[in-house]
Amino acid sequence: MTARIIDGKSLAAGVRKDVAEGVAALVAGGVAAPELAVVLIGDDPASHVYVANKVKQTEAVGMRSRRFQLDAGTTEAALLDLIEGLNRDAAVSGILVQFPLPPHIDTARVVTTIHPDKDVDGFNPLNVGRIAAGMQGALVPCTPLGVMRLIKSVHDDIAGLGALVVGASNVVGRPMARLLLQELCTVSIAHVRTTDLERRCREADILVVATGVPGLIRGHFIKRGATVIDVGITRIKSGAGADKLVGDVAFDEAIEVAGAITPVPGGVGPMTIACLLANTLSAAQMEAARSKAAEVDVTAA
Ligand code: NAD
Repeated sequence: MTARIIDGKSLAAGVRKDVAEGVAALVAGGVAAPELAVVLIGDDPASHVYVANKVKQTEAVGMRSRRFQLDAGTTEAALLDLIEGLNRDAAVSGILVQFPLPPHIDTARVVTTIHPDKDVDGFNPLNVGRIAAGMQGALVPCTPLGVMRLIKSVHDDIAGLGALVVGASNVVGRPMARLLLQELCTVSIAHVRTTDLERRCREADILVVATGVPGLIRGHFIKRGATVIDVGITRIKSGAGADKLVGDVAFDEAIEVAGAITPVPGGVGPMTIACLLANTLSAAQMEAARSKAAEVDVTAA
């Protein structure tokens, strides 16, 4: 058996098309095009590439973007001031601060300062809590949101399936587990101290791996027919000297056992950026709905 390859690139193109239609509908209704503010601190080359890509894709779906490039020595107070200004700026629908931040800036303070309604990365504790409680109106972290779409491209209904999330970070593993639970999967989380990872993986109908450990999940770890989502991305030197991106799953082995699997690259990565655009649109739509409700209240008063 050879697994079906889940084509993240084409699924992401579908999400971008839906977002572009959503933006056009907002604008046709008299609302300004959503605007994403992207804040980058320092000169990490990978972060520059990610930010340039996010800005380009934002504009390609008809949204506006505003980019703030701050130098590596920017103080935490100056960054928090900038974020508070963006929170107050009615033209801004979403705020994204590119991580990692320099060590002198407290990441928790930054994510707490971004207004929950503009928190398109979904890291503010209010959004984290809404997801944990299964409440409506949460902005959901982009990678897990994209992974759910990839899983749903394979399964109409995942209720009752066993899911294992390998990796327990706040960015991927934990919100991922909460979303799978919300869909009534029976969910476990594994991490660096988990014992007997192989047996636990072999029990999973849905296996989501986000560790950053290349090739951690071998083919014989995987339940026959399982859906395998490889979030991991590690840049390694290939034989020819050029860099190569690899995932956490030994793809050539896994493809012989899994029912469906994401490639690296071309799986989760493209969906993550597409879901950032979807979140920016959602933030703008929710804001438009709040403004409309406030107008109705004033008219009724
Ligand atoms: P992280 O370092 O914050 O967390 C890694 C998690 O993996 C931890 O919970 C750790 O306990 C667990 N872990 C590490 N070694 C393990 C092992 N041997 N067995 C079991 N668990 C182990 O990383 P992160 O931010 O969650 O990212 C994980 C990977 O996903 C990285 O490769 C990252 O580049 C990638 N990533 C990709 C995207 C995307 O869009 N494709 C987005 C975010 C992260």
